[in-house]
Amino acid sequence: MTRAIYPGSFDPVTLGHLDIIKRASKIVDELIVSVLRNNSKSPLFSVEKRVKMLEEVVKDIPNVKVMSFEGLLVDFAKSVDAQIIVRGLRAVTDFEYELQMSQTNMVLDHDIDTIFFTTSLEYAYLSSSTVKEAAYYGADISRFVPEPVIKQVYNKFNLKENRNEQD
Ligand code: ADP
Repeated sequence: MTRAIYPGSFDPVTLGHLDIIKRASKIVDELIVSVLRNNSKSPLFSVEKRVKMLEEVVKDIPNVKVMSFEGLLVDFAKSVDAQIIVRGLRAVTDFEYELQMSQTNMVLDHDIDTIFFTTSLEYAYLSSSTVKEAAYYGADISRFVPEPVIKQVYNKFNLKENRNEQD
């Protein structure tokens, strides 16, 4: 049984992430989308909310599960008995960091390998941070994030705006 994890922040999940999830789920028996609990970043959505949104978005793909994790990626991979780490490559700018990370993970645990998916052309420019920036300024994000996520992102910014107005 081939089990892979697809780790990331997913703050929020984008159509680019979903494309990687769909493609990766076809070549492994089980894919665990793994939301990193990272205290050093200040996220828009809580980890629990990000997990919920991902669950909603992958609900029709039977071999995809969603979990959260903290600590070392290779430790998490071991704990769920995964042999593969899935990552996406958008542009050259992703490459150096991803290469370094996969090599570090390889040194930490030689039994776990990283597989890279090159982004589909239509999503090459897409990142969670550009989605947040676009939504903040009221842009249409329906081409960037899955349907159930659109409203959640707008709600966040409305709330924030309301709060700012009250300050
Ligand atoms: P991280 O904070 O670990 O970079 P992200 O949620 O931003 O987490 O991304 C998780 C993974 O998905 C990374 O491997 C990233 O390169 C990949 N990814 C993000 N956006 C896209 C996209 N538009 N197309 C393909 N892969 C993507």
